[in-house]
Amino acid sequence: MPELPEVETTRSGIAPFAVGHVIEQVIVREPRLRWPVPSQLAIEARGQRILSLSRRAKYLLFGLVNGTIILHLGMSGSLRVLSAPTAVLAHDHVDIVLDSGVTLRFNDPRRFGSLLWTHDDPLQHPLLRSLAPEPLSEEFDGAYLAKAAKGRKVAIKQLIMNSQVVVGVGNIYASEALFRAGIRPRRAAGRLKTVEFDTLVKSIKQVLREAIRQGGTTLRDYVNPQGMPGYFRQKLFVYERGGEPCRVCKTPIRQLVQGQRSTYFCQECQH
Ligand SMILES: [Zn+2]
Repeated sequence: MPELPEVETTRSGIAPFAVGHVIEQVIVREPRLRWPVPSQLAIEARGQRILSLSRRAKYLLFGLVNGTIILHLGMSGSLRVLSAPTAVLAHDHVDIVLDSGVTLRFNDPRRFGSLLWTHDDPLQHPLLRSLAPEPLSEEFDGAYLAKAAKGRKVAIKQLIMNSQVVVGVGNIYASEALFRAGIRPRRAAGRLKTVEFDTLVKSIKQVLREAIRQGGTTLRDYVNPQGMPGYFRQKLFVYERGGEPCRVCKTPIRQLVQGQRSTYFCQECQH
């Protein structure tokens, strides 16, 4: 599943091809995504210039003069930049054709992605307005996380993956951040020390920033805009390394299931 760094990589990879260009047409081949693509979208977007391409959580926001296209990649979606006519493949559901000759093509085999339209402030859209803070924002700091954890028995890993606490920290980055912070994923959130909240928040930001710099991690079904794999995977300390030696102390990485997701940690490096 594309996580926040993959979505940010998509945003920064696509922005130079999109921003400033006029949408000639939007071709919707398959409107049955997670929510139906509104028929209004193609009509409204036609002839409009893309003024901005921003991101909130894992939503990409194409800011047009008259409204905003809200795009979510879902579990398996990708957005490719095509500079020449290219045969339509299976699951190529939507094309955004630009006046430059470039087409932004949305492919999504599992159709959990979405493409929506709003005339209003996109941050007030029902899907976006109650989202928790961005992990890379100043608002997300040790004190904020400590407050969210106060008195709670939930595992710290579950807490940082809870999108009502902070958005965009998925399984990979939660596992890696906890390793770097030296904190075991199953510890009760409310029992962490003040300094551990600070360290953990710093680790989350560091891990996300590194992943963004390296173009995301690239899971099975994710390809970044240039079709190149992300390089972050080579730097993972624990994620999907069950049984392999810890890169720091050589102890085999432990794997367990936590909240229906695999969790990985080193019992020597994490306490
Ligand atoms: Zn270790």
